[in-house]
Amino acid sequence: MSTEQEARRLDEADPLPTLRGEFLVPPAPGGPFAEAAYFAGNSLGLQPRATAARLTEELQDWATYAVEGHTQARRPWVDYHELLREPAARLVGALPHEVVAMNTLTVNLHLMMASFYRPRDGRTRIVIEDSAFPSDSYAVASQAVHHGLDPVETVVRLTPRDGEDNLRTEDVLAFLEREGDTVALLMLGGVNYLTGQLMDMAAITKAGRAAGAVVGWDLAHAAGNVPLRLHDWDVDFAAWCTYKYLNSGPGAVAGCFVHERHVRDASVPKLAGWWGTDPATRFRMAPDIDPPASADAWQLSNPPILALAPVLVSLEIFDRVGMDALRSKSERLTAYLAERFAAIPGVEVITPPDPQQRGTQLSVRIADAGTMVRRLAEEHGVIADAREPDVIRFAPVPLYCTFHDCHRAAEALAGLTRS
Ligand SMILES: *Cc1c(COP(=O)(O)O)cnc(C)c1O
Repeated sequence: MSTEQEARRLDEADPLPTLRGEFLVPPAPGGPFAEAAYFAGNSLGLQPRATAARLTEELQDWATYAVEGHTQARRPWVDYHELLREPAARLVGALPHEVVAMNTLTVNLHLMMASFYRPRDGRTRIVIEDSAFPSDSYAVASQAVHHGLDPVETVVRLTPRDGEDNLRTEDVLAFLEREGDTVALLMLGGVNYLTGQLMDMAAITKAGRAAGAVVGWDLAHAAGNVPLRLHDWDVDFAAWCTYKYLNSGPGAVAGCFVHERHVRDASVPKLAGWWGTDPATRFRMAPDIDPPASADAWQLSNPPILALAPVLVSLEIFDRVGMDALRSKSERLTAYLAERFAAIPGVEVITPPDPQQRGTQLSVRIADAGTMVRRLAEEHGVIADAREPDVIRFAPVPLYCTFHDCHRAAEALAGLTRS
C-alpha cells in the first residue's frame, strides 16, 4: 500500500470521522489538490458553514426589532452572553459562573492583572516564559510600569536549559521553590505558541499557589486544543482567544475564567462597567455598582452580538463532538504527522515527543522557514506558518484536518528539503 493509500485508509477507519464538511476549507494556492491542506488553524481556525446563517439571523433580528431586539430577538441580546456560558465552562473545565465571553485576549489579561497583580513589598515579580507571545510580554511589562516598577527587574522570563527548546516542569517547580516568595504573578501559556509544548498546568498551578503567587494562564493555544480542568486545578484566572482552535473568526470575542473563590470575594478590586453589575438592577441606572458573584463582574460593556454569534456556533460544535473525542483524534493525527516528519532527513521537530506534553501542533526547525512556507503553499497547497527565523508550525486540527492532509504535508516537506 502506498503512503497515500495508507493515509486514506486511516481516514476511513478513524473512530471520529472528519467534520471537514462542516467547514469552509480554502482552495489550494497550488499543487494537485483543489482544497488546501490547512495546518494554520492554530493561528486562524476555519469558518464553520453554520456561521454565515447565524450572523444573518442576528442581522435580520436587528432589522425586524431594532431596539426591541434586546428582549425580542430569537436570542435576546440583553443576555446573549449567557448562551455561551455553559458550553464555554465545559470547554475549559470551569463552573458556569467562573467564565464569561468578552473583549479580546490581551484586554482580558489586562483586566485580570488589574485585579490580581497586586505587587507589594518583596513580592513584585511577574513570571512568564522566555518564548512568550509578544503581546503577553508587552502586557506584563506595561503592568509593571503601571505600578511604578521597573519592567526589566519585575518581569522574569523562564528559559529552557542550554541546548533545549522546551521548559522542564521540574525546572519551573525548582524556580518557584527557590524564588517563589518574590513572585506576585505567574502567567504562562498553557500551550506555547512557538514550540507547541503543553505545560503541566496542574502541577505548576499547585506549586505557584503554594509559593504564595497568583497563577494565571494564557490559554490562546490551549482552549479547544487540549482538555482543561481550570476549576479543579485551582487556577486563579485564565483568558483565551477564540479565533485559533475555536474557529470563531478573526479578532473574535475572547473567553475569561476567574476562580470561584475570587468571584465570591467582594474585596477583589475590579475595573468596572455597567455590564458588571447585577442584571436584575442594571436598568435602574444607579450610580453604585452591585457586582454579581460570577466572572460577569468583570464585564464592562454590553456584548457585541455580531461578534459573539460565531463564538456560539463554534461552542455548539465543540459541545456536540466533545473535547475528549477531539483530543484523542488530535493525538492520532499528531502522532502520524510526527512519524512522517521523523522519516525526513534534516527535519527537526522541536515540539516535545511525549503526547502528554503537546497538543495538536508540531513545530519544525528548518532553515529559511519563510521561503519554505511560501513554497509549501504555492507548490503543494499546504498551508502552515513560519515564525522567523527558523520555525514552521503545523497544526493538524482534528475537526477538519485529515490523515491525508498530514500525508500531503509530509510529502511536500520531504520534497522541498530534497530540492
Ligand atoms: C494569539 C495570541 C495572542 C493574541 O492576542 P489578541 O489579544 O487576541 O490579539 C496573545 N497571546 C498568545 C499567547 C497568543 O497565542
